[in-house]
Amino acid sequence: MAILVTGGAGFIGSHTCVELLNEGYEVVVLDNLSNSCEESLVRVQELTGKTLKFVKGDILDRDILNQIFETEEIESVIHFAGLKAVGESVSIPWEYYNNNITGTLVLVDVMKQHGCKNIIFSSSATVYGDPAQIPITEECPKGQCTNPYGWTKSMLEQMLMDIQKADNEWNVILLRYFNPIGAHKSGRIGENPNGIPNNLMPYVTQVAVGKLECLGIFGNDYDTPDGTGVRDYIHVVDLARGHVAALKKIDENPELCIYNLGTGHGYSVLDIVKNFEAANGIKIPYVIKNRRPGDIATCYCDPQKAKEEMGWVAQYDIKDMCEDAWRWQSNNPNGYEK
Ligand code: NAD
Ligand code: UDP
Repeated sequence: MAILVTGGAGFIGSHTCVELLNEGYEVVVLDNLSNSCEESLVRVQELTGKTLKFVKGDILDRDILNQIFETEEIESVIHFAGLKAVGESVSIPWEYYNNNITGTLVLVDVMKQHGCKNIIFSSSATVYGDPAQIPITEECPKGQCTNPYGWTKSMLEQMLMDIQKADNEWNVILLRYFNPIGAHKSGRIGENPNGIPNNLMPYVTQVAVGKLECLGIFGNDYDTPDGTGVRDYIHVVDLARGHVAALKKIDENPELCIYNLGTGHGYSVLDIVKNFEAANGIKIPYVIKNRRPGDIATCYCDPQKAKEEMGWVAQYDIKDMCEDAWRWQSNNPNGYEK
């Protein structure tokens, strides 16, 4: 029996493959490499000393999916594949809805045809919109998303819940990630954004390595202790282990579960800059810029439910996240490019 990991060559997917292989799972990755490269999977296999099967292909391609389900015994799917750049989703919404929503509809249909009804889906804290309460629990109502990317997550959650409700042979686990950062301790795999990073930590590490001059901090007039935005940063290895915990949960036939995956601690942008500087002894020059449209002041979770129901707790702290992000970036200034 194997686990199909869609989008497994990407940032979170590659770290999850490491944890799955270390736990003895057989892994099949389907990825079209639109935002990743095969080298990440070469390194995953080096790190674990185990092999996985890689299929280069698209979740929109029914034939490839059928072939995978015909040749492999897939017991569960961890579904990472998707486009994720918030700003880009505003410029090319059709591409986002088609890739993320149509892609998932095709995937789920092929799964159903082959009797595989276990799926773990990569959702996001973005579905809470501007959250009604802090810390955010899973009971907190979903909110208005500010971009098409966020809506794809919100709509896909609803779609998967409806499918599960109509047929309780399905087990659906929706994992709402907070802000994944950091990298594998080895410094061999990590986040590899195309072009100028949109997210905070890759921007900081690219300033540290000299590829970018100066960090722009988007607003210092929020209603937060230092005026900059507060987020729940979680080490990507902890997040990856959350997927292993979710797979074990699926063995209990839980039908539908929703979990926040975060640490429960909020750090501001300035906290991240200071912690990065302290952990790595590198100064990060920054300037204060205008607020970024669509950003909220504060977003951190209550991760209690994942602890109680899956026994999952984040192990790594902000120092680990800063050190590991830097080890990856400094050892691989150009990401996976040779
Ligand atoms: P990523 O871009 O590194 O990984 C996504 C992978 O999916 C890439 O390797 C890409 O090539 C692949 N892919 C995209 N469309 C595909 C398609 N149609 N067919 C096959 N492969 C396809 O992103 P990530 O940061 O690893 O995120 C993984 C998932 O988690 C995504 O669904 C993302 O929306 C979600 N998520 C990420 C974050 C974050 O901050 N990184 C936060 C919340 C949720
Ligand atoms: N941020 C910033 N400068 C950057 C990128 C991000 O000040 O170059 C801030 C952003 O406004 C937010 C926090 O850092 O308060 C985290 O942003 P990111 O894009 O990493 O994640 P988000 O929470 O928006 O998904």
